[in-house]
Amino acid sequence: MIKLLVATGNQGKLREIRRLLEGSGVEVVGLDQFPEAPDVVEDGDTFEANARKKALEMAQFSGYLTLADDSGLTVAALHGAPGVHSARYAGEQGNDAANNAKLLAEMSDIADEKRQAEFNCVMALAVPAGDCQVFAGKVSGLIMRGERGDGGFGYDPLFMVPEYGKTMAELPLDIKNRISHRGAALKQVLPVLQQMAEQA
Ligand code: IMP
Repeated sequence: MIKLLVATGNQGKLREIRRLLEGSGVEVVGLDQFPEAPDVVEDGDTFEANARKKALEMAQFSGYLTLADDSGLTVAALHGAPGVHSARYAGEQGNDAANNAKLLAEMSDIADEKRQAEFNCVMALAVPAGDCQVFAGKVSGLIMRGERGDGGFGYDPLFMVPEYGKTMAELPLDIKNRISHRGAALKQVLPVLQQMAEQA
């Protein structure tokens, strides 16, 4: 069994990552074990830069193998916005309702056939000594004209997954994890963690 610090304060993400790692021989440790942890400023221009920074700073602080992710929504018709600013699109960090309202307003004049979007996720796996590997995942969908569903978090109620005819917020967690950007990135992390667990 190896211990892995998952460096996120977002309970929705932590829940998804815990579920994805169930039965993998990896014990997930949350940030609640490190109340003194520094607040890492996400000031990078890319998901990768932010994920690397979070993973490396937290691995050095905690002394644990650390997984950090940076993720967000990119909308082609909005030139990639909200992008790395997804969590604070409407101003206040992590205000999902305000972010969704802003996205709907910004897209009110955008035609149905131009509402393509992607969720992107970059995961960074860092060791305290400073090595860091990154893994990227994405999922494509369409932005709705109103919210649907009450599962998930963030932009999920506005993100339609065409293959299912449902928003991410209407899909059970197991299905979201199977198709999501975070699931896609974590699937690549898993064999690396399993190899580490075997060598430990
Ligand atoms: P981060 O914590 O800086 O990675 O910010 C991620 C932000 O992107 C969240 O606050 C959400 O607004 C959005 N986001 C990332 N992943 C998801 C997802 O799976 N569903 C809905 N919104 C997401």
